[in-house]
Amino acid sequence: MNEQWIQFANEIKKMYGKDVVPLHEPTFDEKEIEYVTECIKTGWVSSVGSYVTRFEEELAKFVGAKRAVAVVNGTAALHIALKIVGVQENDEVLMPSLTFVATANAASYLGAIPHFVDVSYETLGMDPIKLNKHLEEIGVLRNGQLYNKQTGRRIAAVVPMHTFGHPVDLDGLLEVCDKFNLVLVEDAAESLGSYYKGKHTGTFGKVAAFSFNGNKIVTTGGGGAIVTNDDALADYAKHLTTTAKIPHRWEYVHDEIGYNYRMPNINAALGCAQLEKIKVFLRKKKVLTEKYEQLICNLEGVQLFKQPLNSESNYWLQTLILEDSLNRNKVLSFLNDNGVMSRPIWQPLHELKMYKNNPMMEMNTTMQLKQKIVNIPSAPIL
Ligand SMILES: *Cc1c(COP(=O)(O)O)cnc(C)c1O
Repeated sequence: MNEQWIQFANEIKKMYGKDVVPLHEPTFDEKEIEYVTECIKTGWVSSVGSYVTRFEEELAKFVGAKRAVAVVNGTAALHIALKIVGVQENDEVLMPSLTFVATANAASYLGAIPHFVDVSYETLGMDPIKLNKHLEEIGVLRNGQLYNKQTGRRIAAVVPMHTFGHPVDLDGLLEVCDKFNLVLVEDAAESLGSYYKGKHTGTFGKVAAFSFNGNKIVTTGGGGAIVTNDDALADYAKHLTTTAKIPHRWEYVHDEIGYNYRMPNINAALGCAQLEKIKVFLRKKKVLTEKYEQLICNLEGVQLFKQPLNSESNYWLQTLILEDSLNRNKVLSFLNDNGVMSRPIWQPLHELKMYKNNPMMEMNTTMQLKQKIVNIPSAPIL
């Protein structure tokens, strides 16, 4: 790596004022200490307490959805989101191969089969044109339900993911869903604060899942949420994630196999303090993007990925797109050796051993992007 790269690494360290710059880290102040301390002092740290309801209400309000149900993590949110829209054992669920493994695992927990779709260069997310072509080839509608001609299985849902916070082409995907009678469930784990045509991501599908893991834009330590405009689905999600217990002052009666997925009050307290600052985080992420744009000018063979057309991204993770002249692993080892924590995109899921025999379409763009993407430090600078 040449002089320009050494300068690039040094500028990043200077910008953050650190010798070793993490990829992402949470930002806390007195508010988090105050709310969490209150939980500890009053004893309301666990499954009962007012912060959970407050977090759910404030989250729903922020994204402009009717309801939010807080849960233990984003994976649990995806699991329940898929269950409440009716995904069943042996159904196929369409999703990008280029996503975090949780998207596929959540479908697998229900006995459903992830069916992998290629992504587009414009959004880094599911490509609606390729998806449409693929479904025209392999799909058949019977009694209003889509089936995979090659496997004989029902195709139940489409789960796009807003990669690194950049919204997918939702209009395109909604059109495909409409044409093939498919339910849209958004994996919005990375896209809190991201908008498509002025409307918050996670409000386009029937249900969406968000994550508040420690590395996400807003954290509850660990946490997630199911978001929907459908009251009946939200009520069902709440019921399922609280062990399916029928509310009663003392009786313990459960009416189906539920899950202990509820978010503890102490985590929700952290989340309430974080949500109060989200606008600041979003603004700082934009400033960081502008700074990186300037720094990247001096680097040959590199582009900074910018938000797609019609959308406003939260720029959760900053993304370098390398041209063929640059070797991804060389860039990664140079940056990590020089105190700038960086990582590649996930191994495409269709290459993992548990998913390698799953149904999928051609993966040209996914396989190209895998060699080109490097994420660089993205925490908002204070
Ligand atoms: C973070 C993430 C999840 C899961 O969230 P957890 O809270 O870590 O369980 C799911 N999908 C994507 C794309 C993610 O980035």
